[in-house]
Amino acid sequence: MSAAAWPPLRDELRGVEPYGAPQLDVPVQLNVNENPYGPSEACVADIAAAAAAAATTLNRYPDREFTALRTELAAYLSRDAGERGIAPAQVWAANGSNEVMLQLLQAFGGPGRTAVSFAPTYSMYPEYARDTSTRWVAGRRADDFALDLDAARDLVKTEQPSVILLPSPNNPTGTALPPEAVGVLCEAAGDEGIVVVDEAYGEFRRGGVPSALELLPSYRNLVVTRTMSKAFAGAGLRLGYLAAAPEICDAIRVVRLPYHLSAVTQAVALAALRHAPELLGKVDDLRRERDALVGWLRAEGYDVADSDANFCLFGRFADRHAVWQGLVDRGVLIRETGPEGWLRVSVGTPDEMAAFRAALSDVNGVRA
Ligand SMILES: *Cc1c(COP(=O)(O)O)cnc(C)c1O
Repeated sequence: MSAAAWPPLRDELRGVEPYGAPQLDVPVQLNVNENPYGPSEACVADIAAAAAAAATTLNRYPDREFTALRTELAAYLSRDAGERGIAPAQVWAANGSNEVMLQLLQAFGGPGRTAVSFAPTYSMYPEYARDTSTRWVAGRRADDFALDLDAARDLVKTEQPSVILLPSPNNPTGTALPPEAVGVLCEAAGDEGIVVVDEAYGEFRRGGVPSALELLPSYRNLVVTRTMSKAFAGAGLRLGYLAAAPEICDAIRVVRLPYHLSAVTQAVALAALRHAPELLGKVDDLRRERDALVGWLRAEGYDVADSDANFCLFGRFADRHAVWQGLVDRGVLIRETGPEGWLRVSVGTPDEMAAFRAALSDVNGVRA
């Protein structure tokens, strides 16, 4: 074996860089859609007490079924789910919704099977497909980043995917799916496929935009994923979850690692959920700040994609890297992602947004 061939990686992993945004030490961090508000003192104290109680049990494996956490997540999701609500048996959780989605691909993808999404979209999806040896097919979104429903249905009919991944709101564009999209695609996928609506940013959607949770009673092949990373200000906690038919949760049990959710994770997630009203109050502030940001960027003459998330995609720049670098030089880190010519900025505190506006106005000369 030649020196270049070591270590003996799978062919498709050779030369691949690990996923991740640059983590630069810059004062204003608006690059990975984190929630800028840390938990309150009361919430921190509750989390600390919960972690201490869990610590006394660490000689034992945790509750493999995370029963208490599933019950509380079901109660939380029921608020968005219409009359039927969500039962604990419909809930599954893992270390971030990224792990939830990888588990879905492990259970429902695999060799000889296909996963479909619509670009531009979340750059992790093709990685889950690659890691599970699932064939990857990306359709295109329309120029305004909306989903062309007829084209999407045609692609599903042609490719017959076993997994369809649809973020709503979409990352990096912020675009929510139209209400009829989920039903159309669940019907097109039929019993051969599952439709995963990734609502990582669901809590930030604008008034009147429904959650796909409402449609769970109508489509047994629908899966809705959520995370505590964004709205719950818990990116460091690593807790993602889904709601789906109990049969789908049972299927994931076959591929999950034993005791994948630590006792500390379960206890801390439960404590954070007890503070949902406080944490979601901050979400309302961020939604207002988001709408103000979109308005300001448009008034400045930028193109801005409609956003139902805690970030927005704006452009267009002849040299977006120069604009990104100009902002970094002024202490503001945003994300160079999405289609060529566009940049994505996360919604921060009022002070952080003022710093962003000042820095962008300063580098404005670079704009095409
Ligand atoms: C941030 C994000 C997630 C959340 O990932 P976690 O693993 O739960 O932190 C999921 N999907 C999309 C599209 C995201 O942008």
